[in-house]
Amino acid sequence: MPKPSPISPTVDFDRDGVQHGFLRLPYSRDDSAWGSVMIPICVVRNGEGPTALLTGANHGDEYEGPLALYELARTLEPGQVSGTVIIVPAMNYPAFRAGTRTSPIDKGNMNRSFPGRPDGTVTEKIADYFQRELLPRADLVFDFHSGGRTLDFLPYCAAHILPDKAQEAKAFAAVEAFSAPYSMKMREIDAVGMYDTAAEEMGKVFITTELGGGGTARAETVRIARRGIANVLRHAGILDGAVEKTPTRWLDMPSGDCFIFAEEDGMFETMADLGEDVHEGMVIARIHSIGRTGGPPQEIRAKMSGLLAARHFPGLIKTGDCMCVVAR
Ligand SMILES: [Zn+2]
Repeated sequence: MPKPSPISPTVDFDRDGVQHGFLRLPYSRDDSAWGSVMIPICVVRNGEGPTALLTGANHGDEYEGPLALYELARTLEPGQVSGTVIIVPAMNYPAFRAGTRTSPIDKGNMNRSFPGRPDGTVTEKIADYFQRELLPRADLVFDFHSGGRTLDFLPYCAAHILPDKAQEAKAFAAVEAFSAPYSMKMREIDAVGMYDTAAEEMGKVFITTELGGGGTARAETVRIARRGIANVLRHAGILDGAVEKTPTRWLDMPSGDCFIFAEEDGMFETMADLGEDVHEGMVIARIHSIGRTGGPPQEIRAKMSGLLAARHFPGLIKTGDCMCVVAR
């Protein structure tokens, strides 16, 4: 038998009404001998019906999700809901508090920690609680992401290309309802340990976003997040009202040629902005060596035609950094 989770919720998932509480995880440390990590959670329930599980700050330096979800938790009323909405606006709460992608406690990347462990690190314990307690309750799982401090994305809502085409179609329909300017049929570089994969393997409808980045949020991307999550809940029949559809442009990541990684350190110059058309062979970025003057920049060419969907954000780049993503 697996061990029980050390996390105890202060909310009752089966009670009608609005509850604001915590997932309390004991964490003994220098400044608090019998202390706990208190992860904020909101449950809004109104009778029988589908359950949506909504999360932000899976990575702690991505802000559209938390901005949309703290507000949704503050404003959502049970009378508007049929079923249950579970909101965890800052999933990797220690990372969110530190403003970093990974947890300052154990360096855990939440989205590489699934299925987690009840006797593992703090990050693994949180992942385990989602894996065994929260995901099984959900019909619809929505996890907000943005680029964080090191990437910037075109604003898109996304779901994965899946072997189960019925499950895939439900996810793509929810993406369409979100009505971001772009919608992505997504492929992963490395799907092991992801929350996405955990939800999909349980047969859940899993939807995510990339809504910007740079370690902040823009007015436009926050508007997209707030309107989009309401649309997805309406589409699922959980929130009353009609979906406010706006046109979206579908994008596809057909192969590994979408991704370009830096093979040198230096100063990064993008030669196309997000959303600009690029064609195969075109120089889309340059890396300038900064150790001395006089050297030519390294020219980085697109491996396929499409448009620039993501770019490295900071001005300097290191070998191995993801530099550009081209989508079609
Ligand atoms: Zn992320």
